[in-house]
Amino acid sequence: MVDKDLRERYRREDIAHMLHGATVPKEFANSANRIFAEGHGVKLIDIDGKEYIDAMSSGFCACLGYGNQELAEVAKQQMTKLHCAMSFLNRASLPEIDLARKLTEVTPDGIERFMFANSGSDANETIIKIVRWYWREQGQNRYKIISVQNSYHGATYGAVSASTFPGLTRHKNFEPFLEGFVQIASPYCYRCPFGKSYPGCDIDCAEDLEKVIQKEGEGTVGAFLSEPVGSSPGNLIPVPEYWPKIMKICKKHNILLIIDEYITGFGRMGKFFASEYWGIKPDIIMFAKGLASGYLPIACVGITKEVYEGMTKTNAPFPHVYTYGGHPVSCAVALKSVEILQRENLIEKAARTGVYIKERLSHIQEQSPYVGDVRGFGLFFCIELVADRPTRKPFDPAKKVSAAVRDRVLEKGVMVGVLGPNNANIMLAPPLIIERNELDRVLDGLEWGIRNFKP
Ligand code: PLP
Repeated sequence: MVDKDLRERYRREDIAHMLHGATVPKEFANSANRIFAEGHGVKLIDIDGKEYIDAMSSGFCACLGYGNQELAEVAKQQMTKLHCAMSFLNRASLPEIDLARKLTEVTPDGIERFMFANSGSDANETIIKIVRWYWREQGQNRYKIISVQNSYHGATYGAVSASTFPGLTRHKNFEPFLEGFVQIASPYCYRCPFGKSYPGCDIDCAEDLEKVIQKEGEGTVGAFLSEPVGSSPGNLIPVPEYWPKIMKICKKHNILLIIDEYITGFGRMGKFFASEYWGIKPDIIMFAKGLASGYLPIACVGITKEVYEGMTKTNAPFPHVYTYGGHPVSCAVALKSVEILQRENLIEKAARTGVYIKERLSHIQEQSPYVGDVRGFGLFFCIELVADRPTRKPFDPAKKVSAAVRDRVLEKGVMVGVLGPNNANIMLAPPLIIERNELDRVLDGLEWGIRNFKP
């Protein structure tokens, strides 16, 4: 534990000198800041010495938990051997090539070439540029990218132009966004944007892609971008017909399919990539969070042979580089992280654990009138709270009910997440290494928090 005077100093200096994103200034100034000092296994320890099970893996990242010595050792070895190298102008480093080779084994069929970035946002910038470059190299002006309402793809201008996540409050202050970004309805069955219910609907949310392509003009649309499961809006698991229909429409209009597996990849949902649940065959894929388990920043874009051939048709060099893209230490750590994931069978374990989590959350749902819907599999679940279960009446978002439950659960030493458009979603995404007794502490804490929740 950090001593009392030092703790107070850190609190004061955090408030005085830091500009934190997504933080309400007045709440922050009133010292609601939580500062962490250590992490071990699935636990985080704050500067007051309080321990929490981190059931959000530091924003979906810490899949292998905290304090992994093997990963630290690999980083140390690579740092002393070659800590920095360029990944452009014909240059590369060994760990980068090793990682790319490994990724060809685990990514969806057809993905065979990779470019590394430092974050999900700049990986999505890379993708936006790939799409525009690819089509213009074929002499076509297909610059538009269609994405899904209520989705989040990053903070940089291109990525944010493809995002319409309502949690981005006062988002409009950043306008103007980039031109050429259009959205379709999201596959949110619990609150169908068309007021229909499955299976009586015509999967209108997928059909919306066809409509928007027609409206925009086929010759202007370059790609469709989506997560396999809408994570930020609350784990929107699409119905079985959704993805086959979307893929058919992309094929029919010859548009590229981009899958953002930033959160859902690397075993989080009980398969290497969530795309596998629906046999999604992306032309371009993006992933990151579990890639190096948060030990170092790294994100990756994977493309097919066809996309590469299209991009290089005129033999012009793709003018897009990141100084730190393909950083040798990040790549070495990511490679070891994938090895551990496979060696410890953590993805199969996540799939099995997901069945147990679903059972326990369904039980909580039966007991509480405020649990409207439970969505997820593997180690990624969302609980949507409602004011009235039979009518699905939402809570007033201003009440921030999910934050109220999260804060109760915190009293039990468990950190769950809140995310989503209505301030009513509780998210669970613990590290993949979590053991049953630790998970029971998370679920017991959550059950207690929900039982004691008074709107
Ligand atoms: N794509 C998705 C689906 C995300 O959830 C996020 C961030 O959470 C991003 C992209 C952007 O990633 P980053 O925050 O690393 O820039």
